[in-house]
Amino acid sequence: MRLGYYVYRCESPVAPFDLVAYKGGQCIRVEVKTVTPHPTAPDFSRPKNDQWDLLAVVADATVFFFEPTTPVLDMRNAFRDYYGLPPSELVELQPCPSAAAYHRHKRRSEACEPCEGFMRQHNHERYKLRKTRAAQSPEGRQ
Ligand SMILES: [Zn+2]
Repeated sequence: MRLGYYVYRCESPVAPFDLVAYKGGQCIRVEVKTVTPHPTAPDFSRPKNDQWDLLAVVADATVFFFEPTTPVLDMRNAFRDYYGLPPSELVELQPCPSAAAYHRHKRRSEACEPCEGFMRQHNHERYKLRKTRAAQSPEGRQ
């Protein structure tokens, strides 16, 4: 509203985005998320869908706006900076597909098909290995 938009609230409990902002004949879909405070790792859950044009991330009294193309790490680092924290380390960012990335997605409720495929394969390998081991040792048979 500060930017001169009319803001419309959503009446549906399940909707792909939270608000509609209108200015000069143009509507933009706005999704709103809140940062969960944490002394060292404030975080938010990135929307699972991509049916929004603008993401508003609320950290205390400040609102950060992001485009759909903004990498999630940049979003996170924006409010980390606001809380006086150093940028999120790249260490956490094991590239996709990997088990680490899969668990990271899971924590953040993100969907990533390559990582899910990787884990399916990974679990399948483990299952095969267990079966092989069980066949080799008599105690493993039960
Ligand atoms: Zn992934």
